Amino acid sequence: MLKVYNTLTKSLEEFKPLTEKKVSFYHCGPTVYWVQHIGNLRGMTLADLIRRSLVYLGNDVTFVRNYTDVGHLTGDNIGDADSGEDRMEKASKRENLDPQTIAKKYIDSFEAHTSALNILEPDHKPVASKYIEQMQELIKKLIKEGFAYETDKAVYFEVSKFPKYTELSGQVLEKNRAGEGKGDVNDPDKKSPHDFALWFFRTGAHKNALQYWPSPFSSSEVENGEGIPGWHTECSAMAGELLGETIDFHMGGVEHISIHHTNEIAQSESANGVKFVNYWLHNEHLLIDGKKMSKSEGTAYILDDVIEKGFDPIILRYFFLNAHYRSKQNFTWEALQGANLSYKRLKKQVNQLQNTKEKGEIAQLYKERFVRALENDFNIPEALALLWELVKYEIKDADKLATVKDFDRVLGLNLLDNAKVEINPEAQELIEKRQLARKLGNWTESDELRDRLKEEYAVVIEDTPEGQRVVN
Ligand SMILES: [Zn+2]
Repeated sequence: MLKVYNTLTKSLEEFKPLTEKKVSFYHCGPTVYWVQHIGNLRGMTLADLIRRSLVYLGNDVTFVRNYTDVGHLTGDNIGDADSGEDRMEKASKRENLDPQTIAKKYIDSFEAHTSALNILEPDHKPVASKYIEQMQELIKKLIKEGFAYETDKAVYFEVSKFPKYTELSGQVLEKNRAGEGKGDVNDPDKKSPHDFALWFFRTGAHKNALQYWPSPFSSSEVENGEGIPGWHTECSAMAGELLGETIDFHMGGVEHISIHHTNEIAQSESANGVKFVNYWLHNEHLLIDGKKMSKSEGTAYILDDVIEKGFDPIILRYFFLNAHYRSKQNFTWEALQGANLSYKRLKKQVNQLQNTKEKGEIAQLYKERFVRALENDFNIPEALALLWELVKYEIKDADKLATVKDFDRVLGLNLLDNAKVEINPEAQELIEKRQLARKLGNWTESDELRDRLKEEYAVVIEDTPEGQRVVN
């Protein structure tokens, strides 16, 4: 029996899908205006592990992850998603490229990185700007039912019309979001500072918007209701269109609980009159050296930084597997180095198993325990520990191999893939230098080089009768 922690009820619940053995799963994807840092990549990996677990447990999963290419404003950083500049426009100015080119550039970068981390492709990856019509339909419904109202600056959702507004966050509304409505939008007709924008007209702060669409909404300041959608509206519209009015899982980072997901619930449930999401999953953040990741301190690392230090991206995935999705995880280069050594040891053991010619059977006792770990709120660290126990356990190599292969469907560590972990060119140079040093009998130099390779590049060298080799 699968148990999941539901943010909505703040408890561990038995999972009951809407339709037997079928699971609908929406994951909030990136705003494609910048290269995603490894904190965001952790979130993507965690969702991938949950999705793979659900499939492993026998479900037919439809997984949707969107791209936001309009409407996500910078004010979100200070807890006010209705203020600030559109992130896509900011990137357009920074790089002197139009928003569509920016979106394409960063979607490509994101997909290269997720694929390097062995994150499976979603079944659908909707791009927000292609769902303007569905968003407008949703907003029209909300106006018609009396949940939303138009001013000359925007169309707003009226929070007081939705009594369950704080159910997900458990926040006290009056204490939250002070000052909202006094930001860039500065709209005297906004009824309450808690109301949030569903549609911004191309006026005021958004007068020079680079992307905008006509709409059926009216403002005396623009023609044809031209403007841009609110960020939250996007996810409600795309989830509704691709997965239906009620879905099983919706996931995102914990930072989305108080505003983004709260607003999604308000919109979707008011428009459709049914529950939007049965199980809300939220992952905790990645810390860097025990602190919040920070661009200004240079700790917002991206995958390229990891590769430049000589680590294969799969090592980062292995590192992520060591913490539960609801726990913070602390990233340090030393910890990644540790993950690297563990991964290489594991891979070496699995490589040796592959010498067997026999056909093996999955070790049922281990499989049962693996299933139990997954069913316990997707306890991946426990599942990984079990894999380690398995490779050390005294059973036939062929059976071990069959079981490792089965577990790797969830863990995604490419354990049976015999390709060598990529080595960076500087490390390669040192490896060659060491080979020469050994030929010349310079043992001190050879030892120093071996230590340097391990410390600086996480490359482990082993000396065999046939010469040195990289432990993979
Ligand atoms: Zn979202």
